[in-house]
Amino acid sequence: MSTFQAPKGTYDLIPPESAKYLAVREAIAAPLRNSGYGYIETPGFENVELFARGVGESTDIVTKEMYAFETKGGDQLALRPEGTASVLRAALEANLHKLGNLPVKLWYSGSYYRYERPQKGRYRHFSQVGAEAIGAEDPALDAELIILADQAYRSLGLRTFRILLNSLGDKECRPVYREALQNFLRGLDLDEETLRRADINPLRVLDDKRPDVQKQLTDAPLLRDYLCDACKAYHEEVRELITAAGVAFEDDPKLVRGLDYYTRTTFEFVHDGLGSQSAVGGGGRYDGLSEMIGGPALPSVGWALGVDRTVLALEAEGVELELPASTSVFAVPLGDEARRVLFTKVTELRKLGIAADFSYGSKGLKGAMKSANRSGARYTIVAGERDLAEGVVQLKDMESGDQRAVGVNEIVAELESKLG
Ligand code: AMP
Repeated sequence: MSTFQAPKGTYDLIPPESAKYLAVREAIAAPLRNSGYGYIETPGFENVELFARGVGESTDIVTKEMYAFETKGGDQLALRPEGTASVLRAALEANLHKLGNLPVKLWYSGSYYRYERPQKGRYRHFSQVGAEAIGAEDPALDAELIILADQAYRSLGLRTFRILLNSLGDKECRPVYREALQNFLRGLDLDEETLRRADINPLRVLDDKRPDVQKQLTDAPLLRDYLCDACKAYHEEVRELITAAGVAFEDDPKLVRGLDYYTRTTFEFVHDGLGSQSAVGGGGRYDGLSEMIGGPALPSVGWALGVDRTVLALEAEGVELELPASTSVFAVPLGDEARRVLFTKVTELRKLGIAADFSYGSKGLKGAMKSANRSGARYTIVAGERDLAEGVVQLKDMESGDQRAVGVNEIVAELESKLG
């Protein structure tokens, strides 16, 4: 073992496990690609101010969890803790919102960084697949995103996740509620830090996980009783559209999420097999974010699903993904002439899209057959000098163990028809 280890709170994705992560990313992306979302990639770091303004100065993400640093050139940067602010920044910078085709629908996949206390399901480096629909205020768009996330999870075989839904109101009704909540919180027996939070961002207190705090919050005023008519109607339509799509959800009047930019629709996907880190994904509407980072008014909605936790959720449910075999054909040459011939055959198979691998290094027959077994290949082709002199190779079916000679010139077509 080397003296170096992966940094605290991180882990490596290693075969064969890593195939699951690729499959999860692919499964989340597929419904988005199918629904008009274009792929976007942004840098792993941004100007720190983007997150301070976008995610919110008082959020845990910005105050405690951000990897912020000064470059040798004196720039203040931060590793991205989330995707929405970056994607919106990029869309504004490229003027995508001016092309007259709103909403701009984008999806992304990548690494995110938060300096958190590591535990199962909570890492300092994790990966998300996300989607953002920028520049339209339409309940059908909120519904679309929730339906697509549901479809993604279901396509993976996940069953016991739940969708929590809430509305956080808008700039008309939220301030009224905020004040009512603040008045209520001031009358409670809370520690100093929580009282300070009640001053700066009272909604966040609703998200406090401590049982003694939750108990005191039982009679807290609820935002849904304060929603203005426009927010109420909007939320009702989102609920109707997802219901009509057959997607089950639970109203959660206390769902606030840990980022400041949300307005109206907010939702979270939770999985009960994950212990305390139960959120596998989340999102919502962020009608004010564009203006907060210096852009025009662009009402938008989006989500991010955590790849790491989705894999944990699959394991918790005992779902085995149907992963394609990484190798279908394994070639075992015995001698130099056979090496040349079989290497050519392997290249031809690969060109046809058949996953093929080769016994490298000068292994004997026994060692090479062990490699063939380990590769999981369905067929092995073996050839020695005598086979080639007769113009054949030996084709072995690794499932049945049957072996027979096939002409050197026929072997590729034969395998193609078997595996095609
Ligand atoms: P958030 O932006 O905090 O709502 O995160 C969206 C999703 O990303 C969560 O539901 C998780 O699945 C995932 N996620 C967030 N933070 C972490 C973390 N520290 N470790 C692993 N996954 C995370």
